[in-house]
Amino acid sequence: MRIKELHIYQYDLPVKNGPYTMANAQVWSLETTLVRMVSDTGVEGWGETCPVGPTYAESHAAGARAALAQMAPGLIGADIAPLSIHRAMNGLLNGHNYAKAAIDIAAYDLIGKSTGLRVADLLGGPTQERVPSYCATGVGEPDEIAKLAADKVAEGYPRLQIKVGGRPVEVDIAVLRKVWETVGGKARLAVDGNRGWTTRDALRVSRECPDIPFIMEQPCNTVDDLRKIRNQITHGLYMDENSVDLATVINAVGTDLVDGFGMKVTRIGGLQPMSTFRDICAARNLPHTCDDSWGGDVIAAACTHIGATVDPRRLEGVWLAQPYIEGHYDPENGIQIKGGHIDLPSGPGLGVMPDASLFGAPVASFGD
Ligand SMILES: [Mg+2]
Repeated sequence: MRIKELHIYQYDLPVKNGPYTMANAQVWSLETTLVRMVSDTGVEGWGETCPVGPTYAESHAAGARAALAQMAPGLIGADIAPLSIHRAMNGLLNGHNYAKAAIDIAAYDLIGKSTGLRVADLLGGPTQERVPSYCATGVGEPDEIAKLAADKVAEGYPRLQIKVGGRPVEVDIAVLRKVWETVGGKARLAVDGNRGWTTRDALRVSRECPDIPFIMEQPCNTVDDLRKIRNQITHGLYMDENSVDLATVINAVGTDLVDGFGMKVTRIGGLQPMSTFRDICAARNLPHTCDDSWGGDVIAAACTHIGATVDPRRLEGVWLAQPYIEGHYDPENGIQIKGGHIDLPSGPGLGVMPDASLFGAPVASFGD
């Protein structure tokens, strides 16, 4: 099967009950980019990529569209097999993993839709039909975050990610204390600095909270910062934003820099490199998430399919933006978190069929 047409769509996703607050950004609305791939056999597949604003990572929505437009003419006629597509994309554009991910996801969806297999089957086979999610709290005050934590544990979430950073670290410590007093060991805890702490802050938090069994996710800005604190903290250390490619992941795993990862399907370049990442983590028994930074049903389905293929002992959860988004691309099969978990879609490919009329006319089309 070969690529006959590629269509790129731009679509606004307002943040429900916004803003969503992280150490370095507040977001009220996100611009997502969708790709519709059509094969020479007449089958369609959908991909998506949605940076959570321009400051979370080295990615932005206009950049995704520009990178896709750069590659698309050269991809018409290309073989729709995941590795072939990555070879073709790498021959057309260096880097820009987050844009390549949209093509990669569309290819998996298309292969699944044309063979009747689910994407989780194409990725090696699911280990479970219902995957755990986790709740990210946003940066907030102690009482507010503790109440949210209690509500989410009662709802069935097995893991909470407390957002911190971008303010005096004393407030962050007060939040962690209050959450621990409130939910105790009823959920696994991650503390996500989104690069917002200094190494001084991270060391202080670890020293002042030795009794709280959280893992620290991307507390500081750089790989060197993580290396600096690694042997001085007593808490587990996870890398998120810094794990920009497989080479960085291999280095972090091989040098024992981290105990796990927060991983985004689009940051690493899509489902094909994500499955390699999964297998690297399996070889060293390192837990990780299967998330994306933001996006609608297409990205949510992609994260759920790869998450379902991870050994449950290592799957830290699949985070979705769905609770912050009004409506679905596919009103019937849209991906939803229920009781802190997500059902793996049963249909072929990603198991969702977006209503293309929602997105208006494509911003660019290539091929016939
Ligand atoms: Mg994170």
